[in-house]
Amino acid sequence: MRAVCFAGDGRVEVRSVRDPHVESPTDAVVRVEVAGVCGTDLHLLHDGDDRLPAGTVLGHEFVGEVTEVGAAVTTLGVGDRVVGSDIVACGLCWWCRRGDHWECRERRFFGSGAVFGPALDGAQAEAVRVPFADVSLAALPDAIPADRAVFLADVLPTGYAAARRAGVGPGDVVVVVGGGPVGQMASLAAQTCGAAAVVVSEPIPGRRAVADRLGGIGAPPDDIERLVGELTEGRGADVVIDAVGGDAPLRAAFAAARRRGTIVSVGVPRGPEFALPVDAAFRDELTLGFVIGDPIRHRDELLALVGTDLIDPSPVVTDVVPLQQAGEAYRRAEDGSSMKLLLAGGR
Ligand SMILES: [Zn+2]
Ligand SMILES: [Zn+2]
Repeated sequence: MRAVCFAGDGRVEVRSVRDPHVESPTDAVVRVEVAGVCGTDLHLLHDGDDRLPAGTVLGHEFVGEVTEVGAAVTTLGVGDRVVGSDIVACGLCWWCRRGDHWECRERRFFGSGAVFGPALDGAQAEAVRVPFADVSLAALPDAIPADRAVFLADVLPTGYAAARRAGVGPGDVVVVVGGGPVGQMASLAAQTCGAAAVVVSEPIPGRRAVADRLGGIGAPPDDIERLVGELTEGRGADVVIDAVGGDAPLRAAFAAARRRGTIVSVGVPRGPEFALPVDAAFRDELTLGFVIGDPIRHRDELLALVGTDLIDPSPVVTDVVPLQQAGEAYRRAEDGSSMKLLLAGGR
């Protein structure tokens, strides 16, 4: 089959690789209908070092159809349409039983070499092998199109976990730092949690326009203080979600939060440390948290919200391209000219 493989030096190539098959009784094989290209993929290409060997099949966001199941798979069968999650997890251990699948000792993250644990071939391919299929996959109603469902694998649960962990509630004024795909999903999630206003701080005009279209208020970073001041009688935001990561976005988050407010960072840090403004954090009694996301824990509630159109992530999709054009697609993702890029793969 064809698959998008890491080719070294920050590049990808579509190569011919071995077809996946069931290797363990709890596996399934899925023929991929649509796979997402994610910011995480771009991070991996440049920061994966020797843990991402050339030839690694990339991709961790996919929708498709089950073509093969192991003998121990009980909830899915051949022909079922499914959405994956970016990780697989056993579903049985102490962490999994709490819903904390990310901490499962059997966790593997698709298409990332050994960066997040033992390697597992990715889903930017015609087909993908899925361990622990009963836990890692969910049956997908035909009514949910692939360009919405694919967000359930990673980007939407990541933004949703940020809003939930931050405790966004009815009437809150929320600032989201960064209008990339995760920031836009955080905005949608905060609105679903009852936020009165979600201001998306974003320097790129096209991304601010998407924020507006999705029910938020897109604003340039230097206008946030004024705008949030107007919305809150000068108090500042109840909740700030940093969807970028790194020093400057976190500092912007501290600047935007009100006293006794909550800051949650869902962006990948750019360095090992951050100088916490502890005087202000103590004086203002701030709550600070960090979130990676729980695609398996939150899948049922997000399937319900996407299925009833209360959340429609599809306006974030800027490009749908055939799998064999993945090289060009990755270049567009890297230069920022696309926002969410989907590869139409398997059929
Ligand atoms: Zn992703
Ligand atoms: Zn587990």
